[in-house]
Amino acid sequence: VLVDIQDLTVTFTSKRGLIRRKTQAVRVLEHLDLQIYAGETLGVVGESGCGKSTLANSIIRLIEPASGRIIYRDTDILQLDKKGRRRLRRHMQMVFQNPHSSLNPRMTVFDLVAEPLRTHTRMNRDEMLARVIELLNEVGLREEHLTRYPHQLSGGQAQRVVIARALALNPALILLDEPTSALDVSVQSQIINLLVKLQKEHDLTYLFISHDLGVVQHISDRIAVMYLGEIVELAPAEAIFGNAQHPYTQALLSATLEPDPDVEREYIILQGNVPSPVDPPSGCRFHPRCPLAFERCSLEAPSRHQVAADHWAACHLLENV
Ligand code: SF4
Repeated sequence: VLVDIQDLTVTFTSKRGLIRRKTQAVRVLEHLDLQIYAGETLGVVGESGCGKSTLANSIIRLIEPASGRIIYRDTDILQLDKKGRRRLRRHMQMVFQNPHSSLNPRMTVFDLVAEPLRTHTRMNRDEMLARVIELLNEVGLREEHLTRYPHQLSGGQAQRVVIARALALNPALILLDEPTSALDVSVQSQIINLLVKLQKEHDLTYLFISHDLGVVQHISDRIAVMYLGEIVELAPAEAIFGNAQHPYTQALLSATLEPDPDVEREYIILQGNVPSPVDPPSGCRFHPRCPLAFERCSLEAPSRHQVAADHWAACHLLENV
């Protein structure tokens, strides 16, 4: 296990009332437990607002969780001071959805990729230049890109620069938050293939966040499905696609996959949007949208039920399976 997330709760403050503004704590992640294995790609999927980006931002300490533990190797990263957090940046990096907003428009590709080397190493300029060229080659760019500015790059090229920069310090973990969602469909698969290649070459671990099960299908070893701040199902990717147990996962699959005559699957169409975390539904948080909901679902939160080795789902219907 590379990262062990234990009982993680993240709250944001929201303001209520037009005249008397009262503040209120909103739980965006609720007692979440999750392990990321070394060398795997763990896909995290769910509709927008389910807390998946909050999860990644908590791991890299861009936001401060309210409680819980995040153990990276032997260190609880929530206990680190400023210096410790700085050291942590060598081990984990984040790639965001929109590459152009992650890159300073006034810096050249060389300066952008060299920035972490300047901050964290004592390389001289020649060593840095050699390392930046090496990194650009690894992500499929060439020396001629060194002097370009972000606006002179296509979306795919800009995301390659972001990935090169993320690789610069040889991290163990890369958190990928919708890394292909802002790109053209034709470029998306090139970036996915590049990520797969880099993972093999550098023994990387990925947390790959997406709203789309189809995108994570080919890259993930395991998939965690999130709904309103909670993980509702976790399983190896082939079990999610061949034997999903949670009605929410089944609904996401219905929206993603073409009907397959060889796979027996219930087709469920999701109604409405994810409810607000300000006032989450009682019992099972999915009950207002679940076509299989019954009386107990609004009264009692379901526990996790193990359906196979390394596969569980949180739904009352699985209690006696
Ligand atoms: Fe649906 Fe009830 Fe299962 Fe929740 S516990 S997913 S509402 S059947």
